[in-house]
Amino acid sequence: MSRRLQGLPASPGIAMGPAWWFQRALPIAVRTQGEDATVERMRLQAAQERAAAELAALREVQRDRLPPEELAIFEAQELMLQDPELMAAVEAELAGGASAEAAWIKAVEAFAAQLAALPDPYFQARAADVRDVGNRVLRHLAGSPGAPMMPDHPVIVVADDLLPSETVTLDPQRVLAFITEGGGPTAHAAILARRLGVPAVVAVGTALRTVSDGALLLVDGEGGWIEVEPEPEVMRQAQIRRTLWLQERAQAEAVAHEPAQTRDGVRIEVSANVGSLEDAREAFQKGADGIGLLRTEFLYLERTAAPAEEEEVTVYRALLEAMGGKPVVVRTLDVGGDKPLPYLPMPPEANPFLGVRGVRLSREHPDLLRRQLRALLRAGVGFPLRIMFPMVSAVEEIRWLREFFEEVCSTLAAEGYPLPQDLQVGMMVEVPAAALLAEHFLSWVDFFSIGTNDLTQYTLAADRTNPAVARLADGLHPAVLRLIRHVTAAVEGTGKWVGVCGELAGDLPAVPVLIGLGVQELSVNPVRVPEVKATIRRWSMTEARALAEEALRQADAAAVRSLVAEARPL
Ligand code: PEP
Ligand code: MG
Repeated sequence: MSRRLQGLPASPGIAMGPAWWFQRALPIAVRTQGEDATVERMRLQAAQERAAAELAALREVQRDRLPPEELAIFEAQELMLQDPELMAAVEAELAGGASAEAAWIKAVEAFAAQLAALPDPYFQARAADVRDVGNRVLRHLAGSPGAPMMPDHPVIVVADDLLPSETVTLDPQRVLAFITEGGGPTAHAAILARRLGVPAVVAVGTALRTVSDGALLLVDGEGGWIEVEPEPEVMRQAQIRRTLWLQERAQAEAVAHEPAQTRDGVRIEVSANVGSLEDAREAFQKGADGIGLLRTEFLYLERTAAPAEEEEVTVYRALLEAMGGKPVVVRTLDVGGDKPLPYLPMPPEANPFLGVRGVRLSREHPDLLRRQLRALLRAGVGFPLRIMFPMVSAVEEIRWLREFFEEVCSTLAAEGYPLPQDLQVGMMVEVPAAALLAEHFLSWVDFFSIGTNDLTQYTLAADRTNPAVARLADGLHPAVLRLIRHVTAAVEGTGKWVGVCGELAGDLPAVPVLIGLGVQELSVNPVRVPEVKATIRRWSMTEARALAEEALRQADAAAVRSLVAEARPL
């Protein structure tokens, strides 16, 4: 009997094959009582040293295979092994008579739970790193290091969740898809799946445990579901869809470097969302028309002090160069209550998403904002640089930001620095108030970039990090679309432009609706660029406009999705 299990889509595509449960190598038995605190301490120390050596070796072996950010994960894990807070917790347990294993598990779990409880998915993902390094030490304590062996044939990897060091033990040639019980679209398995171009479905829940090793699975990464032991007819249909998908992808990639135009000749920019130099290189290689959103948080997180101006200049220049003269939209630092920085002490907030984040925090720390703007302006000379501000909710804020920006420009000029010639200043539209009052913000900016991830969570009152309300937070909801229309209507005929840089821009059914609403630029995950361009080319602007008009009249996101599924361009 076939069964369908629903999860969340994390990487598109269709795959079929046998399930292979990724067994986590945990120690077989855990002694809870120690013999003697000194002996236990020495055992733990030895296991930690072996784990550290293993991590260093892993880093060396993977140096040419992995991007620097992923190598940095292993480095961070080595540092975690010496974390003073963690070691103090271990010491307290050992002093109380616990075995090395019990003391280690308790301290690691408490540390990981602290991180997992933070609302930001970035820190939740760091909890997985802590558990990962925790498991490594435990394996050494049990004297059974070693990762599970992959079968020698292609499989669908099934796991409760996958940790960074586990994914590197997998042979990408033999991975057909990833399915996880937990995690979200930002989980490590999901990111890896997108990079490998294989489908992934995450957050399937405990029902996944009923899938036995070797069971035949059908995975639909776009719909976010899997089917266990599908009927032969379903498999046949899926095989046809898979062949079609692979053909379409190959065709899309062949012309990915060409501009995307609708059938009636309207050019739409398809740029990429980027969070590192490595992403920028991938975006360029995938044919992106530029960077539509550079998330600069990567420069600020996981360090004890803000980067110096010179360091920022070097990084921004490398990114601009990597894009070979194409436009790059850089967003100023977007952190806050949900993404705290150790060097920006902030009081805890009950509702971090409604608190001091984005430009609200930048205004409280003008020195940090000034340094970032100076670095950007210095790096941007000779490049088409666009700078934008996140989380703007009041007209008074954008006025302040614009004046602050002009002041930074004048100071730099007075110091003798040349300024970029091809420069635009914009803001993100992520708050319903900003969308509704777009015409009032417009006089202060050259462009708007709509952040549908936040705009959707604020419009539909559905926390973007809470899987329990993930199904409510669909950006194709007509309430969100009406706000987008408000923004494009305000810009029409002014010579300024509107882009969308939330995940919705790379959601293929949303593409004709967004361009039909008047959006001129879509900024998407680099791997999505070819398919988004291909989708644009299938539509005429007349058809897309009619579809968008119809979408605005619907009552919910499901109705919009069925409308799009039925509407076929010529
Ligand atoms: C958004 O909110 O849609 C967006 C692009 O910004 P982020 O996801 O970084 O909050
Ligand atoms: Mg946002």
